[in-house]
Amino acid sequence: MSAVGSAENPLRVAIVGSGPAGFYTVSNFLKHKDLHVEMDMFDRLPTPFGLVRAGVAPDHQKDKSVMRAYDKSAASPNFRFYGNVEYGSDITMADLQEHYHQIMFTTGAPFDRDLDIPGEDLTGSHSATEFVAWYNGHPDFASRSFDLSQENVAIVGIGNVAMDVARILCKTYDELAETDMADYALEALKRSKVKNVYLLGRRGPAQAAFTPPEIKEMGELVDADVTVRSDEAKLDAASLEAMEAEADKNVEKNVAYINEYSERELTGKSRLLTIRFLVSPTEVIGRDGQVCAIRMVKNEAYQSEDGAVRARATDVFEDLPVGLLFRSVGYRGVALPEIPFHESWGTILNDQGRVQNSDGSQVTGLYTAGWIKRGPSGVIGTNKTCAQETVNCMVEDLGKGTHLNPEHTDPQAMETLLQTRKPNYLSWTDWKTLDEIEHSKGEAAGRPRVKFTSVREMLAATGKG
Ligand SMILES: Cc1cc2nc3c(=O)[nH]c(=O)nc-3n(C[C@H](O)[C@H](O)[C@H](O)COP(=O)(O)OP(=O)(O)OC[C@H]3O[C@@H](n4cnc5c(N)ncnc54)[C@H](O)[C@@H]3O)c2cc1C
Repeated sequence: MSAVGSAENPLRVAIVGSGPAGFYTVSNFLKHKDLHVEMDMFDRLPTPFGLVRAGVAPDHQKDKSVMRAYDKSAASPNFRFYGNVEYGSDITMADLQEHYHQIMFTTGAPFDRDLDIPGEDLTGSHSATEFVAWYNGHPDFASRSFDLSQENVAIVGIGNVAMDVARILCKTYDELAETDMADYALEALKRSKVKNVYLLGRRGPAQAAFTPPEIKEMGELVDADVTVRSDEAKLDAASLEAMEAEADKNVEKNVAYINEYSERELTGKSRLLTIRFLVSPTEVIGRDGQVCAIRMVKNEAYQSEDGAVRARATDVFEDLPVGLLFRSVGYRGVALPEIPFHESWGTILNDQGRVQNSDGSQVTGLYTAGWIKRGPSGVIGTNKTCAQETVNCMVEDLGKGTHLNPEHTDPQAMETLLQTRKPNYLSWTDWKTLDEIEHSKGEAAGRPRVKFTSVREMLAATGKG
């Protein structure tokens, strides 16, 4: 038998998860011109692209343009897409091991971390993930509802996802109507009574996790003023010292925007975005089971032994009246069946993308990339180098003969299995049909696309219903 990876005996790779890490796996493999590789990509959703479709904000279409590069990878004759096929229910580890030499898991980290404070489960308290997935038309979240009749809303966290949520709540209907936001979300936001949006940060402006373009945008909203309390904009001695030593341009820009916002006059726009620093929620207060306020403790900044500026609680508390709360304090991945998992990190156990057992030994043929490999950090492009590192390991292992020995190497075999197991899977051609419908509806409405938001409708539109 010829070597695996030759024209006579191509390397067969399964990729579970069609977000950026999945697609950068494909493009990285395609760079190995001497290697004959066939790649089958699976996603539990009928549509590809993971958080690029269902996470990236609808008013940030430029960030979604990476889909064009992913399209190019998908055009390779050695690529197949199986949408609406979930690892762990529709296909199992045994199925994959019987059909592929190597298996890559790129399933992302889709859940928010909890605040772990009393009252977090009250009605009106949500994870930012739910809201983001809802306005982006993720079919699992399309039936959620959020009480937008509330005037005061708090978002715990000041990373870029928190910024997205705040911006969407502060934008006008006309601004949102130009996006590919789900139709039902657009209608609900049209009726929104939200007036005050608070972003709550644990540390000071110099430690904020947002990036300069995101904080700059907050000062350019059509019908929302932005403000920061001057005492919270002022940097403490530890932050000033750290800023001087590190000379990080992004931090300097962030601090400059915050200073400017603290000095800005309010102009009477219909919404007000208030960015708070050095506050930590300690309790969500409820009335009749519904959020009515958030209790916060004031923090002070200090320099810890490792040199980092951290926050510690004082004895000063404040109650902020809000009727709706979103938590956005980080993401975590979930364990997948039959794959070693690090519960507290929320990642697959791995070394440079090679899946490991808890004793550190390599699990032959299993690999990982993206957020489920390294945790929820970085931007879309970070997944490119992350996938590259893993693909390099896969190619190296192939060279050493370390791979699975599947029973079925005919590319048709997986299709045959799915025809009995999950006959209504969607191919790449099916996805392109949906894509075209979404685009043409969008064109008619002056929007980038009008999204399908229900699996049933997607199946019906592709004749798989
Ligand atoms: C709200 C939000 C907004 C963001 N905005 C930006 C931005 O504007 N710009 C930017 O650069 N970065 C942004 N990011 C970061 C960026 O989205 C991530 O870096 C990137 O999506 C991570 O890629 P991934 O492939 O690891 O995971 P994901 O994109 O989450 O993809 C994982 C895929 O795996 C699938 N899957 C999960 N479980 C299974 C299973 N059991 N079987 C089959 N399929 C499965 C999922 O359906 C999904 O399609 C944002 C992140 C979030 C959360």
